Amino acid sequence: MTTARILDGNALSTSVRAKLAERATALKSRGVDPCLAVILVGEDPASSVYVRNKVNACEKAGLRSLRDVYAADTDPAVVFARIAELNADPSVHGILVQLPLPKQFDSDAVLEAISPLKDVDGFHAENVGALMQGKPRFISCTPYGVMEMLKSEKVVMKGAEVVIVGRSNIVGKPMAMLLLQQSATVTICHSQTRDLKSHTLRADILVAAVGKAKMITGDMIKPGATVIDVGINRLPAEQGGKLCGDVDFESAKNVAGLITPVPGGVGPMTITMLLANTIEAAERTLET
Ligand code: NDP
Repeated sequence: MTTARILDGNALSTSVRAKLAERATALKSRGVDPCLAVILVGEDPASSVYVRNKVNACEKAGLRSLRDVYAADTDPAVVFARIAELNADPSVHGILVQLPLPKQFDSDAVLEAISPLKDVDGFHAENVGALMQGKPRFISCTPYGVMEMLKSEKVVMKGAEVVIVGRSNIVGKPMAMLLLQQSATVTICHSQTRDLKSHTLRADILVAAVGKAKMITGDMIKPGATVIDVGINRLPAEQGGKLCGDVDFESAKNVAGLITPVPGGVGPMTITMLLANTIEAAERTLET
């Protein structure tokens, strides 16, 4: 029985963030103070934690951040007006609206209201289209982070069999596009896929982005595969209440060659790539 190497997202984040901090310093020396604006509507506890982590990460890397927090019953027109203001403000380089939004909001309309030049989450249709065409402007942060993790470990993507479980717009689909661009052979599985295991067992690189605790077990993994666990699930209190991924780490680590843990895997890299996208947006202002 082998034990997989652990792909440590915290360690990689630390080194990537150090380089981003250098780029932030270089920008400031040229008169550009990179700035991310974050909008939060409502009191969802998980969203509040995510926003706090993003703002803290900005500060640590030397980026300026703005945080607008609105009550859950805010009229969408107020938020649209604020987005328009931030779009027009040259001192703001990235804009992020934390999802999910309360029910009176049309989330797609909100995301489309953000200037595609400041859409550091990469959710705007224009940026999704650019990614499809192989000319990405902003890559959504989680898939971007996964690509950096694979590159950091020199995982061979060209010709590799990749299976992605999950087809969301924010993880599964952009992940597939990025791996396709690296000449992997990509299969996307979802809730209607028949015999999931027959697919996952073929994967040289397996990406789990489902949102179901420990659903990928060791017997579903090809020996030596690289396993990327995007899932973040909280176990019920009677099972300890801890965070866990979509992969059953205990059984998977005996089969995989390389595996990301949860927590400490993809999660920290997601925030890191948000900083990277903001820095890139700020650097682009010097090119025009
Ligand atoms: P979504 O709920 O949007 O998508 C889940 C996907 O999983 C869907 O495509 C769904 O299929 C598929 N699915 C559901 N059940 C099964 C099943 N039994 N077999 C195969 N596929 C299935 O989730 P997200 O993509 O937004 O997030 C996925 C996970 O990643 C969550 O745990 C989330 O918390 C986490 N996450 C982590 C991030 C990080 O920074 N690490 C960032 C973003 C998300 P269908 O389309 O048919 O419904």
